[in-house]
Amino acid sequence: MVNLKNKIDIDGIKAAGAIVREILNKLSDITEPGIKTIEYDLLAEKTAFSLNSVPAFKGYKGFPYSVCVSVNEEVVHGFPSQRKLREGDIVSLDFGVYYNGYYADAAVTVPAGAVSDRASNLIKITRESLGAGISKAIAGNKINDISIAIENFVAGNKYSVVRDFVGHGVGFKLHEEPQVPNYYIEANDILIEEGMVIAIEPMVNEFSYKVKIKQNKWTVATKDKGLSAHFEHTVAVTKSGPQILT
Ligand code: MG
Repeated sequence: MVNLKNKIDIDGIKAAGAIVREILNKLSDITEPGIKTIEYDLLAEKTAFSLNSVPAFKGYKGFPYSVCVSVNEEVVHGFPSQRKLREGDIVSLDFGVYYNGYYADAAVTVPAGAVSDRASNLIKITRESLGAGISKAIAGNKINDISIAIENFVAGNKYSVVRDFVGHGVGFKLHEEPQVPNYYIEANDILIEEGMVIAIEPMVNEFSYKVKIKQNKWTVATKDKGLSAHFEHTVAVTKSGPQILT
């Protein structure tokens, strides 16, 4: 069942979303060659608590960290660690908080220092594919309209969308219905209604969409070792169109 949100709920998710954005901006700002990826986790956690919010991922189904840090061929659910970023790496940062009764969730991919054209183009296309998806988050459309917009945009740029992980409803819980895939699924013809709040999150691979799970049982990586990028916003479907809450 899809839980629709009223104006008060949407304002509450927006307040959580503002914290997520502030923290993702801080994490993006410290990104440079030489930092250890565990530094993201420490900064995110410290800042979240200082803003009276709780990092939403830590402990969720046993995930051990506050931020997912996925480097280069890692797609999502990467573990922050003692690994030092190197010039040319690309880093996907996925973060969510619980604040005052509500959840919000977002992600960005950022470059460490100067990156290759191939990496920066993948980042650009992934960010733009999120925009293409968000523009279809309109009452009366179907979830598939979002999925198709992302899939077509990505395929038109010769990349592929990850199929094993999808976007989701968000707000009262971190993950709610409906699922929001980044590619067309015939059976997923769900009507988009005013009051839906969804996390739209294309994960885009340079080559094949195929992924594998690494030894830590969490981290998803491309099977062919190509690069992967990820952008996500929490979006409310309102009378006046899609409203980005993160
Ligand atoms: Mg999400």
